[in-house]
Amino acid sequence: MSADSPIASRIESEVKRRRTFAIISHPDAGKTTLTEKLLLFSGAIQIAGSVKARKASRHATSDWMEIEKQRGISVASSVMQMEYRDCVINLLDTPGHQDFSEDTYRVLTAVDAALMVIDAANGVEPQTRRLLQVCRARNTPIVTFVNKLDREVQEPLALMDEIERELGMTVVPFTWPVGMGKHFHGVMDLRQERMRVFSPGEDRVAGDEEVLDGLDNPAYAQRFGMQYEQAQGEIELVREAAPEFSLDEFLAGRQTPMFFGSAVNNFGVQEILDALVELAPQPGERAALQRVVQPEEPKFSGVVFKIQANMDPAHRDRIAFLRVASGHFERGMRLKVVRSGKELRPNTVVSFLSQRRELLDEAFAGDIIGIPNHGVLQLGDTITEGEALQYTGLPFFAPEMFRSVEVADPLKTKQLKAGLQQLGEEGAIQVFRPIAGSVLLLGAVGQLQFEVVAHRLEHEYGVKARITASRFQVARWVSCSPEDGGEKELKRFIDANDHRMAYDAVDAPTVLVEYAPELRAIESNWPKIKFHALREHA
Ligand code: GDP
Repeated sequence: MSADSPIASRIESEVKRRRTFAIISHPDAGKTTLTEKLLLFSGAIQIAGSVKARKASRHATSDWMEIEKQRGISVASSVMQMEYRDCVINLLDTPGHQDFSEDTYRVLTAVDAALMVIDAANGVEPQTRRLLQVCRARNTPIVTFVNKLDREVQEPLALMDEIERELGMTVVPFTWPVGMGKHFHGVMDLRQERMRVFSPGEDRVAGDEEVLDGLDNPAYAQRFGMQYEQAQGEIELVREAAPEFSLDEFLAGRQTPMFFGSAVNNFGVQEILDALVELAPQPGERAALQRVVQPEEPKFSGVVFKIQANMDPAHRDRIAFLRVASGHFERGMRLKVVRSGKELRPNTVVSFLSQRRELLDEAFAGDIIGIPNHGVLQLGDTITEGEALQYTGLPFFAPEMFRSVEVADPLKTKQLKAGLQQLGEEGAIQVFRPIAGSVLLLGAVGQLQFEVVAHRLEHEYGVKARITASRFQVARWVSCSPEDGGEKELKRFIDANDHRMAYDAVDAPTVLVEYAPELRAIESNWPKIKFHALREHA
């Protein structure tokens, strides 16, 4: 196909207008509220309240999501698409509870940028910190939104300092608050040199607020009093101390633009949308084992980063969430699952237009599509039009918690294994088979994963599992490179440690230890063995 054929130029222009990002925060910082306001301001929904309503109606749709209802949290991440200023924005939600799962990490591999929501009273909280580590490791550009300025919160300079230290990124304020709480008067737009005046309420939409020109208009002191004077002093300081914003530094994950607002009052939302379309990158190239793939390439390819079971309990289906990496997807096209060589001809592929699941006609790089299937697709699978490509970068993290799992009724051992196999493939939990003994081990990064698995084993596979404490606390995948003795040395290690070795779902050898110091001792005794806290799917 020549570069100037109609479809090639369409792919190019469609890729250019895609923005795919995740929204991350600690629970209660206002992620759901902001998500809803982004949809509202982009015109994707007409009335506020529908995201919350969706949260509520989702509870009714699935049995195992009982847990979600009971605990008032969102177990599953979801995807939304909206259009704004000629851009197509794909927004991926991340579960916010501290008992979050590995799913959250993987969602971050499917995006090109992240929007971080911070509660201005609480600053950077633990959940945000964990997500940030993943963003940092991938140099994901981050836009920062400091929320709840309508409350008595921390001083903006202190917040800026904290975010800078926690992120290890330079913070560049794009707006600066004038006052807070009862005396929140609005924000100074430091780039456009004007003030946006705050008024509480949820009724306003785009372009509806009072804007005053200039940063030091003489009328300000009279109208906004000491809050204005304080803000002026701070702005002076910030302008001296903070560097100029650089798009390159932002894209490299070294600078983050910071905005202040109040999501519940629709204040500061427009600026975030503008920042996303103006600053956030379009989909970029992606590394596969074989080569690097450009998003504008004519042939379709994508990678499965999340599998969700039983979204519709009437069908007992599993939906594979696929990030399109290149080319043009059309409904009914013939695709290949590279790992198995199996052909896939999905006719019911869905997209996620502003929260409704809709049948999809086409998609481009950056889009997320959902493919219903019955176990044909696994996490990390690459799908192409035929080329043997395997995308890299889908992480599996060494679990931080372990449990033993047995069946109450020994006649159900087979069902337990089948159930765990499937749940393992979905990434709901990691399953390890110790070399010694017959009891399977479960590994997770969040406590909730165990509860979800126990619940689903019972309700979907009819197995009452006994999930009990395990003595293990740390796991590392092990390998040995050829120059250090390769497979032979690895076997020597495995044989010598067989009482604490196990194999995971893809038969990768894993060493399990009870205490971190024990791991250090093993590491120093076996200098030729490599110990990995992260495994990439291949
Ligand atoms: P999430 O857990 O991060 O999704 O947080 P939510 O969006 O559910 O918000 C948590 C609580 O904070 C809710 O009661 C919101 O109404 C409230 N909230 C969100 N944004 C603001 C804000 O700008 N100001 C104030 N005062 N409350 C807010």
